[in-house]
Amino acid sequence: MLKKVLIANRGEIALRVLRACKEMGIKTVAVHSTADRDLMHVMLSDESVCIGPPSSTDSYLNVPALISAMELTNADAVHPGYGFLSENADFAEQVEQCGFIFIGPTAETIRSMGDKVSAIEVMRKAGVPTVPGSDGPLGEDEQEILALAEKIGFPVMIKAAAGGGGRGMRVVEKAEDLIKSIQVTRSEAKSYFGSDVVYLEKFLGNPRHVEIQIIGDGRGNAICLGDRDCSMQRRHQKVVEEAPAPGIDEKTRADIMDTCIKACEKIKYRGAGTLEFLYEDGKFYFIEMNTRVQVEHPVTERVTGIDIVREQLRIAAGLELSVKQEDIHIIGHAIECRINAEDPNTFMPSPGKVTLFHSPGGNGIRVDSHIYSGYTVPPYYDSLIAKLIAFGPTREVAIGRMQNALGEMLVDGIKTNIPLQVDIMKDEGFRKGGANIHYLEEKLKNR
Ligand code: ADP
Repeated sequence: MLKKVLIANRGEIALRVLRACKEMGIKTVAVHSTADRDLMHVMLSDESVCIGPPSSTDSYLNVPALISAMELTNADAVHPGYGFLSENADFAEQVEQCGFIFIGPTAETIRSMGDKVSAIEVMRKAGVPTVPGSDGPLGEDEQEILALAEKIGFPVMIKAAAGGGGRGMRVVEKAEDLIKSIQVTRSEAKSYFGSDVVYLEKFLGNPRHVEIQIIGDGRGNAICLGDRDCSMQRRHQKVVEEAPAPGIDEKTRADIMDTCIKACEKIKYRGAGTLEFLYEDGKFYFIEMNTRVQVEHPVTERVTGIDIVREQLRIAAGLELSVKQEDIHIIGHAIECRINAEDPNTFMPSPGKVTLFHSPGGNGIRVDSHIYSGYTVPPYYDSLIAKLIAFGPTREVAIGRMQNALGEMLVDGIKTNIPLQVDIMKDEGFRKGGANIHYLEEKLKNR
């Protein structure tokens, strides 16, 4: 087993990783910026190292500081969490070149999945259904591009190969606008991501966001832990997630799971990964792969009983997957509400001191949170302060328990989006299940 893991992250995910390490008898090193000395996991870790000033660029993204911290503390592996350096192939490469273990896929896999054009190509070749499109970067020949768009049918979407975080994409409604839109997306992509490579795909009108959780051992074996529906989004940011995705028939689910397992076995995928799909009219269309643990992993853990972070640590230590596919059963339903420090109406971040925090509880409730009474939410980072996960034998029971939990949770001193989550849990369209990715934005417009 690993002996000492450095956690290159902060907030709830750093605490999540720390808990898994402690359970497994692995020593932990917390790293933190000067603004994060009071983080819960920093206090609970065996050792901690300050890696820089508040700005993420100088701390959580500071590769030399992280590698020095690993040297200094004699850690043998690094867990990147999500965000920050978790999908940075250069970081993974440097970690391994310095003789440490990167808890995640190989740098090569991260690189090929980080470029959407190459990710789509790899997955398409492995038999995963993709969105009809250019199947590669767009060239210079305008007539050819126009003909392709006409063949696929408008509206189409122009996307940056290096895009992320909902940026670097543009919908084109009609042929007249196509060439201009490509030029604009190219120059945006160049300035945001340093690459002007763009591709084209069909714009799906009313899809749902359904993703598939995979774990691979890096030696050609992979298991699938089912799906999650993350269609409740605002500005492409997930707000509520659930497992399993409501209303998908067993045959369709089994087929897509099987396809994803085969694809990940083919590329000898190592660690936890998520294939993100748009799902429309009973069909899946691959859009990208995330090569790390996801924020929403707890809903999958709850319905499968498998600890995803524990699997990540085991695989990094060179062990086999702890379960076989035939031993994975999806039981019941789990929902996650992301609790953010933000104004529930304007969505402006609301950092500051939490004067009182009361965590909810009861049957089927899990709370992943690093905050406590007296903790100050710094203004420099993501506003996620807690994840509330409710489980029930049915979706209806899970929603009922979530409503109780939201009602019991107290966060005084700062604003949170709890009132928005209360609204969503009451919402008829949400309760019916299977709402599409535009549903929440529409609801907010009509509020
Ligand atoms: P990012 O990496 O920036 O998150 P994605 O490729 O995952 O980009 O797309 C983000 C979101 O954009 C999707 O969840 C979906 O809402 C929308 N989207 C992406 N591609 C399409 C498409 N072909 N048709 C309709 N919506 C799309």
